[in-house]
Amino acid sequence: MPRGKPSGVASRSTPATAELALDPTRCQTFKPLDLPPADRLMQLAQWQERVAQCVRCQELATTRKQTVFGVGNPNAKLLFVGEAPGADEDAQGEPFVGRAGQLLNDIIKACKLKREDVYICNVLRCRPPGNRVPSLQEAENCREYLDAQIGIVNPDYIVCWGSTAAKNLLGSEDTIGKLRRKFFTYGRAKVLCTYHPSYLLRNPAAKKDVWDDMKLLFMDMGIDLTAK
Ligand code: URA
Repeated sequence: MPRGKPSGVASRSTPATAELALDPTRCQTFKPLDLPPADRLMQLAQWQERVAQCVRCQELATTRKQTVFGVGNPNAKLLFVGEAPGADEDAQGEPFVGRAGQLLNDIIKACKLKREDVYICNVLRCRPPGNRVPSLQEAENCREYLDAQIGIVNPDYIVCWGSTAAKNLLGSEDTIGKLRRKFFTYGRAKVLCTYHPSYLLRNPAAKKDVWDDMKLLFMDMGIDLTAK
């Protein structure tokens, strides 16, 4: 199967469970771990320390205020992958704390969860100057860290927020418009792609699509978000 092509065709009424043929060279560092919950926090802390010293991307290492590792429940069933820290995240050292983060919090709340219930990280752990899109090299440099976080948390589900996350995690060049409404796999996790909260700030009409994607995700998890 060609890379980035799901096996099933999704329709609006019947979302397909798609298998993405992952290029093994893209996920060499990925190892799903089955750690006891007590060890996960410690392992994440060790990686966080390593990331704080990272100088793999010279430009980012010299322009960042600090690295932004990840936040949330180390035993979460649901892990979110965003793009990269922005100015607020760079200042506070936590992913999704700016305007896009406020919107992400609203989405989490609408899904009857708390921010602490999920694990949140990004493709990059440093802010690209001017919030430019991460380069392929930067994403590759940071991939070991992303894979370590996914491996340690070992979630059942991953949401890729926006095309940078989808492109880098799944190795797909398809747009979010094409990737959404179906499940892919990464290791043992089911992966759903949807629009980035920053995109929703610019295009509020797409919030309905994200809500549809959340309903699909939670339905697969056995939770009906429309139930009173
Ligand atoms: N956008 C992202 O993708 N990640 C953040 O942490 C903040 C904004």
